[in-house]
Amino acid sequence: MSRSAHPAGPRHADVFTEGHYSAPAADLNVLDEKVWSRTVTRDADGALTVGGIAVARLAEEFGTPAYFLDESDFRARCRAWADAFGPDADVFYAGKAFLSRAVVRWLKEEGLNLDVCSGGELTTALDAGMPAERIAFHGNNKTVAEIERAVEAGVGRIVLDSFQEIVRVAHIAQRHGVRQRVQIRVTVGVEAHTHEFIATAHEDQKFGIALADGQAAEAVRRALALDGLELIGVHSHIGSQIFDMAGFEVSARRVVQLLAEIRDEHGVELPEIDLGGGLGIAYTSEDDPREPHEIAKALSDIVTRECESAKLRTPRISVEPGRAIVGPTAFTLYEVGTIKPLEGLRTYVSVDGGMSDNIRTALYDAEYSVALVSRTSDAEPMLVRVVGKHCESGDIVVKDAFLPADLAPGDLIAVPATGAYCRSMASNYNHALRPPVVAVRDGEARVIVRRETEEDLLRLDVG
Ligand SMILES: *Cc1c(COP(=O)(O)O)cnc(C)c1O
Repeated sequence: MSRSAHPAGPRHADVFTEGHYSAPAADLNVLDEKVWSRTVTRDADGALTVGGIAVARLAEEFGTPAYFLDESDFRARCRAWADAFGPDADVFYAGKAFLSRAVVRWLKEEGLNLDVCSGGELTTALDAGMPAERIAFHGNNKTVAEIERAVEAGVGRIVLDSFQEIVRVAHIAQRHGVRQRVQIRVTVGVEAHTHEFIATAHEDQKFGIALADGQAAEAVRRALALDGLELIGVHSHIGSQIFDMAGFEVSARRVVQLLAEIRDEHGVELPEIDLGGGLGIAYTSEDDPREPHEIAKALSDIVTRECESAKLRTPRISVEPGRAIVGPTAFTLYEVGTIKPLEGLRTYVSVDGGMSDNIRTALYDAEYSVALVSRTSDAEPMLVRVVGKHCESGDIVVKDAFLPADLAPGDLIAVPATGAYCRSMASNYNHALRPPVVAVRDGEARVIVRRETEEDLLRLDVG
């Protein structure tokens, strides 16, 4: 991500030289449509509205902090991915980004499939009526009980992640008298993140089975030999928040090469490859994500080309976007509580949430934007750090941003692009009550995940 220094103001000279942030936008009142969900706009009074409802009304009705999810944007993104990949490919939404029963129903209605990676996610998916054959089950250490449930439910595929699991799934499938459709997750020696990727020969991570040193080929040999398994393909997931397609290029080439080796050794052409998820979104104005149709074309061109040169039939492609679908569709609404200007440094703005509703900044040094949304302001920009209310100095929501200098306690501020990995990674640290997720659409707002209550906390604490 490019980070440019602000044209110096003497008061901030020392922090400007750190260069952790960009210059403030020319007009802080303008909402960059790249980082906000599609129906977000400002009304005549200057308040942010989503789905036609102003934030003051949302705050009054649902409280803060809260996540507001733009349902029509979510559905539009599902359709864009499904249309871009067309009938000859499959799009699996990665449920770990954010999953609830409402989300499962939207996915089902919009024709997407669903990735789950735990018994809890599987239960949510099945309970909300996702047909089992449209579910893929992932994870590097699925329990025997989870595998039993997945096989009993008849999930469309289990993605095998270790030698032990190959045997476990085969036994369980045989006991149930079925042949379970499976893919083998391979690690192709590509680690991709945002603007760069690293291609290596070896892999030092917990996921998948390495292509290098013939491990993946051995896994294929074993899977093909077991009656309980129907090996339908190979899976590769290379990273997260990726903008550069070059990592996918290397990954696809290595996966296709494995398919060619499998054909040469076993005389079978596996019908599918899964290239995983990890496609990037705009958290700040500096991020330029690609549209689904560009991604679809790039991936299908790469696979087609590689298959032609390996003289293979082109397999059916699947992809697993999580963040790229749900991330941009929600923002977190906070109320400003306290404001501490630190002379010569920055102003600390404390909100009524924090690392319990967004751990990504503390965990990955993630970048976010923030805006004053209950009103507009003509005041000068001030450099702020938006922090939470937790007893932890790393409790930062937005590390470096600009807000108007007349910001006051009671103002509402919002952090966009918090749809992915915020509610799903939320915690009860300091016995915080996890915020609700409110879906907003066409002038109507409804809670899809309710706010936690103190009774919820006490219910788990059995004394
Ligand atoms: C996390 C994950 C995804 C989704 O990643 P995003 O960055 O949200 O697109 C897809 N597939 C697998 C196997 C994953 O682990």
